[in-house]
Amino acid sequence: MKRVFLETYGCQMNVADSELMAGVLEDAGFERVERPEDADAILLNTCAIREHAEQRVLGRLGDFARLKSKRPELVVGVAGCMAQHLRSRLLDRSAVLDLVVGPDGYRTLPDLLRRAAGEPVAHVRLDRDETYGDLEPRRGSGVRAWVTIQRGCDKFCTYCVVPFTRGRERSLSLSDLIRQVRRAVEEGFREVVFLGQTVNSYHDGTHDFADLLRATDAVEGLLRIRYTSPHPSDMSERVIAAMAECPKVMPQVHLPLQSAADGVLEAMRRTYTYAQYLRVVERLRAAIPGIALSTDIIVGFPGETDGDYEQTAAAMRDIRFDSAFLFKYSARPGTKAFAWPETVSEEEKGRRLTALIDQQQRISATTNDGLIGQEVEVLVEGRARRNQTQLHGKSAHFKTVVFEDDGAAVGTLHRVRIVAATPLTLIGRASSSAIAGPPLVTIS
Ligand code: SAM
Ligand code: SF4
Repeated sequence: MKRVFLETYGCQMNVADSELMAGVLEDAGFERVERPEDADAILLNTCAIREHAEQRVLGRLGDFARLKSKRPELVVGVAGCMAQHLRSRLLDRSAVLDLVVGPDGYRTLPDLLRRAAGEPVAHVRLDRDETYGDLEPRRGSGVRAWVTIQRGCDKFCTYCVVPFTRGRERSLSLSDLIRQVRRAVEEGFREVVFLGQTVNSYHDGTHDFADLLRATDAVEGLLRIRYTSPHPSDMSERVIAAMAECPKVMPQVHLPLQSAADGVLEAMRRTYTYAQYLRVVERLRAAIPGIALSTDIIVGFPGETDGDYEQTAAAMRDIRFDSAFLFKYSARPGTKAFAWPETVSEEEKGRRLTALIDQQQRISATTNDGLIGQEVEVLVEGRARRNQTQLHGKSAHFKTVVFEDDGAAVGTLHRVRIVAATPLTLIGRASSSAIAGPPLVTIS
């Protein structure tokens, strides 16, 4: 067995885990293929955060069942959070599955795949110490490298499966991470995004997240640093000061709020009140003027009243996030809230969700319109998907910018004047040549 097809669902941490798996597999002599039809083994790296995510994967397994009926020797595996969440029930229920491997089993993936060719295999033991810090991920192409700095979560929000699927919080060592960042820069990446479930609670026993930001800021050849997702309760003065003082740390933070009603926040066990969250926003805005803020919101949590929902909608109008990920509450087996009666109907959840999406679109549109006429600094990523005569990249505030191709090289910073805007995209015109960074690729 040599050829593996790897498909990824869910968050950026799963994308980073797939890069880790790709590294482990390629080092063991496996080859990645682009089409499931060409593979000896198929691996789905899955997400369990909402029921919908699991249903998508179950649907996809149906496609692979058809392939397997023609080629019974094909090995089909499920990896990641859903594998951990459903564990051996997946193997019992499905005729198509040969392998179930949770997020702490990737080091032995080659061996697991070979064994699964003989009989069904499950590796779902969580490991308090596994960080994969010594392994080299096989990163995709692009200018942005996603670097996992912390695994697991200890917060146990009452709606969330992550502490059960990814286990206890542990951090990679600062030295392993700086080595990974240097290597990413050698490979041509110009930006790193640090990943963790509560990324700002990073601590390797000696160094905290502020130390990591400062050490990374000193890496030569790197242009930009971002991170996601911080927890509001872990947003220390040290982290805010490091953000403000490190020129490569971008003025942008994704800061999940979830709800602005204190009763809901308490039932969610988020460990902060809305007033405390607001204080974090004020400190960030005071230290880093113009900082872009985005958030996560859940509507329809058990017990959320009309008044609670209205408070969240009002908070979003007050704070004016640049963007927001908005979710309908999905009860997850194994979590504390799963046992609580759902008090908000699906229709009402849908209504609240749509209203918040509309409101956020209007806020994002106004904010982006306000940028027309201004100059932003864009890290060029490549040709725009929709229009091949245009280039695209992100501004410092993590807004997508498209502009006419003026020969700018991928991986360089360009000043672009914004001439038009939509709620999701800024349209600009290049106003200077490269201002930093050697070109990675010149587009011809
Ligand atoms: N660790 C991050 C944090 O605490 O903000 C993010 C974890 S999760 C992958 C991303 C988002 O999914 C959460 O911020 C939350 O808004 C949402 N989420 C998690 N569990 C959910 C559930 N059971 N139903 C709906 N949304 C959920
Ligand atoms: Fe889930 Fe809460 Fe941990 Fe985020 S902080 S991963 S929402 S338990």
